Amino acid sequence: MATPLTAGQRAQLEAELTRRQGELARRLADHRGGLTRAERAHELLEQEADNAPERENELGLDGAIIEIEARELAAVRQALARLQGGDYGICAECDGAIPFGRLQVEPWALRCVKCEGAREAAGR
Ligand SMILES: [Zn+2]
Repeated sequence: MATPLTAGQRAQLEAELTRRQGELARRLADHRGGLTRAERAHELLEQEADNAPERENELGLDGAIIEIEARELAAVRQALARLQGGDYGICAECDGAIPFGRLQVEPWALRCVKCEGAREAAGR
């Protein structure tokens, strides 16, 4: 099934995905730099037992943010690849078209609202 998106809509979504890719890559680079600094600080503070748990939490939070951003960046890159390949905008579950309105909100969406909803309900 061919994607029902117009060339203009595809161009708009591609621009948004490319913008998002750049933003995420920049934020990830920033956070990785921050983590390196936190790790150095942690080494310096290792003897100060009182401060140790606090440093651990900061590192954990940074790690969680990096993981979320890395996962989103991967999804954005995959969406750009699908856009090149021609299967972009097609639901991975039911092969139905993902409405343009949904793609505007979430350009890396893999499933239509119905299938995404069913998946989330099953996961709970
Ligand atoms: Zn679907």
